[in-house]
Amino acid sequence: MTLIYESSKTLDRGARIGKMITPHGSVNTPTFMPVGTAGSVKAVGPRDLSEAGVEMILANTYHLHLRPGEEIVARMGGLHGFMGWNRPILTDSGGFQVFSLSSLRTVDDDGVTFNSHVDGARLHLTPESAVAIQEKLGADIIMPLDQCPPLPSSPGDLAEAVRRTTHWAERSLAARRRDDQSMFGIIQGGVDLDLRREHLDDMISLGFEGYALGGLSVGEPLEEMYGVLAGLVGRMPGDRPRYLMGVGSPDAVIEAVREGIDMFDSVYPTRMARHGTVMTSSGPLTIRNAVQADRTGPLDPRCDCPTCRNFHRAYVRHLIKSREVFGYHLATIHNLRFMADLMCDLRSAIAGDYLEDFRREFWANYYGEEPPR
Ligand SMILES: [Zn+2]
Repeated sequence: MTLIYESSKTLDRGARIGKMITPHGSVNTPTFMPVGTAGSVKAVGPRDLSEAGVEMILANTYHLHLRPGEEIVARMGGLHGFMGWNRPILTDSGGFQVFSLSSLRTVDDDGVTFNSHVDGARLHLTPESAVAIQEKLGADIIMPLDQCPPLPSSPGDLAEAVRRTTHWAERSLAARRRDDQSMFGIIQGGVDLDLRREHLDDMISLGFEGYALGGLSVGEPLEEMYGVLAGLVGRMPGDRPRYLMGVGSPDAVIEAVREGIDMFDSVYPTRMARHGTVMTSSGPLTIRNAVQADRTGPLDPRCDCPTCRNFHRAYVRHLIKSREVFGYHLATIHNLRFMADLMCDLRSAIAGDYLEDFRREFWANYYGEEPPR
C-alpha cells in the first residue's frame, strides 16, 4: 500500500478530517491542490507554495506529454525533481484536456485520437499509454483515462461514457508497472444519481486506492452538483480518500466538504489572481478597479501572506494594471493562502464540531447570503 488514509473525525452528515500519507509526505484533509499545468503553478515557485500553506499540487499529464515530453521529465528525476517540489503530486490522466482542448478527436473503445493544441500533431492516447506516461512523470497519485461526457449529454451517451470509463479503468489497473504510485478510480455519470451510484459500485469492485468524482462542475447548475454529492459521497468507501475533480470555488468546496469530500483541485484561485480578483475574508475584491488606486493596507487585513505583510493594495493594483509579472505573483500567493486558510478553517470547524456555524458565517461574509438548501 503506497497511500495510507486515516480519518480522525467524521461528523453526522459526512464531513470528515483526516490525513493522507504518500511517498512524498503527508497531507491534511480536506485539502485543496493548486494546478501546475505545465510543470509550475503559474507565477509562483515551490517555496512560495510551501509558504502559502500548500501541501499538494496537481500537474497536467496532457500538457507535460506534449511539452517537454515525459522522457525528459523522467530524466530529471520525475516531476518532483523537475519542478523542485518534494511534496505530494497528483497527475490527471490527460483525458479531460483531450476532450476540452484538442481538436478533431475521435474516441472509440481503444482510446482517443486527437490533434495537439501545441503543434497540431496527430496523437493517440489509450488507458495503457496514459498510465505509462504518468509512471514516467512519477507523481504520488495517478489517474486512469476516463471519458468525461459533454454537457448536455443524452442518457445514452452518458451510459456509454460510463461503460467506456469502466473498461478503461480495468485496463489502466492492468497496465500499472510501478508499485510506489497510487491510482484513484473516476466515477462518471453526469447528474444522473442512479447512474453515478451504479458506476461507483463498479469502480469499488475493481478496487482503487481512492475514488474521484469526474464530470462535475462542467457547466451544470451548482444545485445539481450538490444533489449528486448529497446522494453519492456517503456511499464512497470511508477508508479511502474522496476527490472532487476540477472544483475550487469556495462555495462549492464548502458544500462538498460538508458532504465528506477530502480533495479538490482547480485553476480557479490562481486564474482569478492573474485576472485581478483577490479572494478576501469579506468576499472577492476586484483589485483592478479604480477605487483601489490609492488604497493603503493589505489586500485582506485578516491575511498574513507575504503579499499582505509587505505591500499595499495600490501597489498590487498598479502592477496588475501594468501587466507586471510580479503583480501576478503577488496576487497568486495571496489567493493560494486564502484557499489554504479556508481548508485549515474547515478542518478546525470539523474538529471543533462547528462546521454549520462556520459555513453560515463564511457565506454571509463572502457572498452576503445564506448558504443553499
Ligand atoms: Zn494575503
